[in-house]
This record gives sequence, structure tokens and C-alpha cells, in this order.
Amino acid sequence: MSVELVQKTINGDSPGVTTELSYFRFTPNVSANKLKQYPKVYLQAALHADEQPGIMVLHHLLDLLLKADKAQALRAEFVVVPMANPVGMSQIEFGQHQGRFDKVSGVNFNRKWPDLLSQIIIDSSTLKTDDAQYNQQIVRSLVWQWLEGYQPVSAREQQQRWLISEAYDADYVLDLHCDADALVHLFAVPQLYPAAQDLSDWIGAKATLTAEDSGGGSFDEVWPSLWIQLAKQYPQYSFPAPPIACTVEYRGNYDVFDSVNLEDAQRLFGFFQARNLIGDVAEVALTIKPKAMPKPSELAATEMLRVSQSGLLAYQVDLGEKVKKGQVIAELVPLSGEGAFITRVPICAGADGIVISRNVAKYVWAGRSIAKIVGREVLSSRVGYLLED
Ligand SMILES: [Zn+2]
Repeated sequence: MSVELVQKTINGDSPGVTTELSYFRFTPNVSANKLKQYPKVYLQAALHADEQPGIMVLHHLLDLLLKADKAQALRAEFVVVPMANPVGMSQIEFGQHQGRFDKVSGVNFNRKWPDLLSQIIIDSSTLKTDDAQYNQQIVRSLVWQWLEGYQPVSAREQQQRWLISEAYDADYVLDLHCDADALVHLFAVPQLYPAAQDLSDWIGAKATLTAEDSGGGSFDEVWPSLWIQLAKQYPQYSFPAPPIACTVEYRGNYDVFDSVNLEDAQRLFGFFQARNLIGDVAEVALTIKPKAMPKPSELAATEMLRVSQSGLLAYQVDLGEKVKKGQVIAELVPLSGEGAFITRVPICAGADGIVISRNVAKYVWAGRSIAKIVGREVLSSRVGYLLED
């Protein structure tokens, strides 16, 4: 095996500014042709640059992977991008970091990832009816051709291009994010389940939320989407199962602590070992065992509870609490108008479920989401765009 530090230069949107995207590649010591037969695992953190627990998880995972590499126990290519969004990391203004939206275009960094199928033209006569691996190579080479011809302009687009060029041919794509104040949970396409239940169990996901198309072109959705769409459009040809790709929400923004992030890294390592992507490593003796976590529920069954006026929140429930429709989740102290500073407006759950996330900042305004409540029944209000922003 060899470990390589890869560095890509991103030209800034303003004169004299460049940014470096750095990541690690662990490559099995085999010929390039043989390497294609090895599974590929791609991990990235902080695509939303203000969500940093994943950086610390990958910091700890890198240490484990280096030990596994030394023990010659890696059975897959691993690409680890600890800081996927250096453009967003640089957005510090007036003493505040804003890493969710590209300040030049206003685009959310985890939206508008390209639909890969619409970037390529498939000549079906080149496909085989019964050889999924062969067809996979054909499709991947078409995506690569598109990438080679793609000429990104803005810094955000250049950054996207580098990340796509590593993720598009991976068999596992894990995008590490976090919520504001939350329990660990996952987002994935429903087609991955129940086969990926072991991932939810190893990670310890208190909820696994599924949507085939949440409407925003999220990073984790575009990789499996290519293969799901192909299977629908060309039912007479075989295609491989979609890659296991998901967004992992590692709790809240401020949950950067060695104790929890190291265990998260060990859990990922345990998952990779259970999937035979890493063999036994004497130096890494894990005591963690996966526990059966909740089965997936549709993202459309998760209520994003919003407020209709500004005010200051006083939560009445804890994370993980099971709540009933109509139960008060928070009380809002209005800051203007009649009853300002004196009264409290109850904000009630619209459905039964588990409170999986809350806000950290308690000052909210009209339309602001204040909690995610994971239910089991699809909500009639949740159609079309399913994401928070
Ligand atoms: Zn995020």
C-alpha cells in the first residue's frame, strides 16, 4: 500500500486568491488494471464548511487507516478528504465563519450537484445484457470523459469538479455533516436498504431518513441516482447495485470532542472491517460492536417544524424524546408587537415522532425550522423539496 497526499489548486473568484484542496489516497500496491477490481471507499467532511465534527472523525480515522496500511490490512482504495470545502472555510467575515453557502453565488454547497446521467450520452449497443461489471466500466468511462471536458469557472465549480472526479467511481461514498444540535442520523436513497442496515447499525444512527430525490441535488444522492436511473431506463441491461452513499449527520456543530469523534472513527473502521474492506489490525483492537438501530423511515415522514414569527425559543423537549402530535416542542417569546417579552407562544408538533434535532441559536424568525421530528407516516405537507434550505 502507499499513502499519497494529493493537493489541488483552486483559483479564487477574486484576483490574487487561490485555495488548496488536500486529501489522502491509500492505494493498494497493484497495477492500475488490477486496482480497478478493488473496491473504492470515498469519505469527505465539512462540505458544509461550518460543520466540523466530521473533520475530527476523519482525523482519527486517518490514524486508524495508517495503522491498517502499515499492517498491510487494507483491501480497498481509500480516498479521505478531511476538508472538502476550503472555499467555504475561508469565508470568515467580521469575526464569524459562514460555511454553508458560497458567498459569491449564494448556492448552498451541498446542493446543485450535477445529475450524472444527463451529462453523458449512452450508446446502448455498447452495453451487455448480462454483464453488470462491464456495463459499469462503460458508464464510468463516459462520466470520466465528461469530467475531462468539463471546464468549471467559479471556485465552487472547480472544487466540485475535483470532488466528483474522486467520488464518481467509488463503491462507498460517505459525506460527513452535522446538524445544529442533534443525535447521529443518516440520509440515503431508499434503494440502499435493507442491505445498508449494517452501516446504520455501526454508525449508531438514531434515524435513517430516505428519499430518492430530496429535490436539491445533494452530494450523496447523485452517485446512486445514476445507477437507479440507468436500471429504470434500460431494464434489459444489467447494472451493478448503486454505491452505498449517504450523508452522515454527526450530531451538532459544536460536538467536536476527541471522546465522541474517536469512537465515531472506530465505528466506521469496524464497518469497513465487517465489509472486508480492511482486515485484522493488531494495533487496532476494537471493542465496539454494532447495535440494531432503527430501520429507515421516509424523509417525507420527518416534520421540519417551523415558526411563523420571530422570537426567542424555550425548548420544552429534549433530543431523542418521543413526542405526540400537538405536544409543545418549544415556547416562543415574541420580541415585538402585543405581548412582546411577556407572553409565550406554544410551537406544537404536527405529528408523532422522535425529536432528532433542535437549534443552537435560540433567536429565530418567520419560517425558520426549529426541530426535526422523525415519524413513520408520510406527511401530506411534505411534498416536492424535502430539505431544510
Ligand atoms: Zn451539512
